[in-house]
Amino acid sequence: MRVVLLGPPGAGKGTQAHRLADRFHLTLIATGDIFRSHVQHDTELGREAQKYMDEGELVPDDVVVRMVTDALADAKDGFLLDGFPRTLVQAEALDKVLNDRNEPLSAVLVFDLPDETAVKRLAGRRTCRRCQRSYNVEYNPPRLDGICDVCGGILIQRVDDEDEKVRRRLGLFRETSQGLTEYYAARGLVRQVDAGASQADVNEAAVAALADLDEPTQE
Ligand code: AMP
Repeated sequence: MRVVLLGPPGAGKGTQAHRLADRFHLTLIATGDIFRSHVQHDTELGREAQKYMDEGELVPDDVVVRMVTDALADAKDGFLLDGFPRTLVQAEALDKVLNDRNEPLSAVLVFDLPDETAVKRLAGRRTCRRCQRSYNVEYNPPRLDGICDVCGGILIQRVDDEDEKVRRRLGLFRETSQGLTEYYAARGLVRQVDAGASQADVNEAAVAALADLDEPTQE
């Protein structure tokens, strides 16, 4: 299956994306994670992206589209896109790549969450510097304070999770998300999930929303 996740920052998309990719054996392509990894390794792409990321602004479409096109080339058995597309230009570019491969999207999972909840969640979010998994000091704390349960990496607060930047990112999301949702709804691809519930419940709803697309793996 080929799935796009849409939802505001703070909706828990990242966490759910990992779980869904494991559950359905999909390649996870999370553009924010890829950019952060480039920043960490101080690549040319990382240096280009960082100036936008630190301000909570979008990286230019052509840069992101090129990066995702490369990542898709390695995703032969289905994928889950988290954080892309974020603009209509990106959505159209994605369609073009997938049409050329004759592999259209199967579904777009939309995570619904009110802004106040998103702001509250992001204020408490801590992200592993090494594997990018995220936690919340209030709702989903790590077993050991400041340490990733999975890889033992150090948990930090992302620069773009600071209050003013969170509001900018949410504003940007609201500006573009409706257009994107309508773009995909017109093709009957949208499936909604209430992201205000607990992580376990959101996961259950997300799995249920995609279950009919699951194909048995071939031995
Ligand atoms: P995220 O982890 O998805 O919140 O992404 C973190 C930051 O990476 C965003 O605030 C943008 O600066 C950048 N970014 C990630 N995905 C995209 C995208 N599809 N288009 C433009 N910028 C992006």
